Parts: sequence; structure tokens; C-alpha cells
Amino acid sequence: MGTLKLYLDDPYLIEFESNVMEYNGKILVLERTAFYPEGGGQPCDTGKILGNREYNVIKVFKEGDIVYHELDSEFFGEKNVRGVIDWEKRYLHMRHHTAIHILSGILFKDYGARITGSQIYTDKARMDINYELGKDKLPEIEAKANDIVKKGLDVVWYYIDRKDFKEDMVRIREDLLPGDEKLRIVEIKGFDLQADGGTHVKNTAEVGTIKISKYENKGKMNKRIYINLL
Ligand SMILES: [Zn+2]
Repeated sequence: MGTLKLYLDDPYLIEFESNVMEYNGKILVLERTAFYPEGGGQPCDTGKILGNREYNVIKVFKEGDIVYHELDSEFFGEKNVRGVIDWEKRYLHMRHHTAIHILSGILFKDYGARITGSQIYTDKARMDINYELGKDKLPEIEAKANDIVKKGLDVVWYYIDRKDFKEDMVRIREDLLPGDEKLRIVEIKGFDLQADGGTHVKNTAEVGTIKISKYENKGKMNKRIYINLL
């Protein structure tokens, strides 16, 4: 059975308790976790695992349906532990992730542009855009993104059956989605839908002001932008 992924339902959960499923040296598997494993352009969480000893979680990754926590020292064999994620870092990831969805939504709706890749950091995010996007369009796109922030739209997440998936529901092509029966949808109310496994803020107002800080022309249909949040 896979790890119960607490971050999918409640990205604001900072602390949790869990039984230990298995461990091997510095690698720990829990029954449930709030630690986000690296994936979908969002970096993993770091934080602490508290048992009889205190361990730093230095890396979190997912293989299949199992989440693995890599600790800074060998696990002692506690039966259950408490986990505390580094919230400051996670919240920055959430804000940047929702910012990417806002920009992706605008680029798709208003320009027909698709995002081919993205990477979130704590202090910036990068987006690769499959579109003939001129640098002159950036102020307009930035202003539209900040309108969505200012509107304070709710962000919600839920599951739909794969059979109910419609091509025009989400920006990403179905063949790029993982083969699960259920698709997790992240919706910015009244604005955007995307199949997504990441953690998001619950209202666009939490994102803060979006600044497009860098533009790289990597080819006719291949542009890269970086954003910062103020
Ligand atoms: Zn996403």
C-alpha cells in the first residue's frame, strides 16, 4: 500500500504523526506524511523527524506510490514519529506554484501558448513556453497575472474520474498525465483548471505581486521566463 500523502489534501499541514512502515539506514518510509516529495517541478520539503532522537530530513522522493524520507543520520528504529516540515520554504514553493498556474492560464487563454516545463525554487520560478512570445508582451502578461492575484480567487483541489477528463478542461495533454484512475485537479475558481499533484495556496491573494524578472529567447517557439514574488 502506498504512503498516505497528507500534503495533497491539506498543504497547510506543518506537523503530523505517523507509524513507521520501514527503514533502511538513513531512508525512512512512513504510513503517512506531510513531506512533499520532489516532482512536477516543485522541490521536495525539508524539515525534521522527531522520535527518540531528532533527525533532519534532507531529501524526500517518491517511487511508485511510496514516499521516501532521507535523513541526515541513520534511523534508530522508533515505531512512530512526529514530522515537522520547514514551513517557510514550503509556503514559498506553494506561492510560486500557484503563480505558475496563474501565468500558465493567461498564456494559454489569451495567447494559445503551452508550458513545456517549469521549475520552482524558494526565491524564483522558471517557465518554458512553447510560443512565439515577444519580450514586448511581458508587461501586459504580468499585469494580467497581477489582476488575478488582486481578485483574490479561491484555489481548490479535488479528484475526478479519468473517464470524465476532457481535453479542454486542463491545459496539459492527457498523454502527459500519469496513468491513475483518478486525476487530481487544481482549480483557480472561475479562471483555470489543471491536472496537478503539487501544493498550492488557497487563495490567489496569497501569491503576492508577480514580477517577470528575466526573459530568454531560446528559439522561435521556445521562450524561457523567470518570475519573482514581491
Ligand atoms: Zn502545477
